Amino acid sequence: MVYDAEMELPITVQGEELAVSATTYVAFRQCPASAVARLRGVYGPESRASFKGTLAHRIFARHLEEGPIDSDAVAQACREEIGKGLNAKLTAVGLKPSELGMVIQEVADLYKRFQALSVEGFRSAEVYIDVDAGSKVTLRGRIDAVFDADDGGTRLIDWKTGRLGDAEDQLAFYALAWVANTGDRPSRIEALSVQTGERSEQTPSEESIQATAGAIGNLVDTVRTIFSSGESGERRAGPWCRWCPILTECTEGRAAIEVYAHG
Ligand code: SF4
Repeated sequence: MVYDAEMELPITVQGEELAVSATTYVAFRQCPASAVARLRGVYGPESRASFKGTLAHRIFARHLEEGPIDSDAVAQACREEIGKGLNAKLTAVGLKPSELGMVIQEVADLYKRFQALSVEGFRSAEVYIDVDAGSKVTLRGRIDAVFDADDGGTRLIDWKTGRLGDAEDQLAFYALAWVANTGDRPSRIEALSVQTGERSEQTPSEESIQATAGAIGNLVDTVRTIFSSGESGERRAGPWCRWCPILTECTEGRAAIEVYAHG
């Protein structure tokens, strides 16, 4: 679906095609140079945490789509999910068999916590969005699960397998992407840490959706201007530097990591 006139992103700089994901948007809000690197195709190495998170999400989705998994069958379910599509990720992380066993045990522990959550009103899991937002911009994302909201509308959920962190920008992106994809404004959108129980939620409004559209328009304009100038973009160091794909070549980022390591 293409945006209708009201929802069009306020883009003023035309240029090459850009696919903007929630990760790119969050990275841009934290440090534009990091987002520019990702949009140039520079990604960091796969991590154990990322592999564990992806595997846990596959188990959560399996629970929602096929029903509860017996506790003595979770390890086998994990191995099946790895075989279905995570082997490349596993190879990239380079886990030894004993380390993989520990990851599977941690996923089983997360799944135990997940089973305590209500899944009433479940509609669908792992919903992929890939929507043309006009001006050669695509919005991409994956919504972990979609539920019926109490008011008859739609509730979107993003599950975290570690600490919740600041999920505000990510949720705002998903709300906009959902509107762009379906024309339906979600009643509620939540981030929930299965690990800690921390929760963050938003009730999207026309104003908040427009504000996010404005911020993404600004991202596109800024990135296209940087691309055409050949520069790398403003650097803003912070705790997020540890996940930045260009950390090794960034003086500001390495200094920040030192400070956080000793702080
Ligand atoms: S290491 Fe930090 S400051 Fe440097 S580009 Fe990456 S996020 Fe920005």
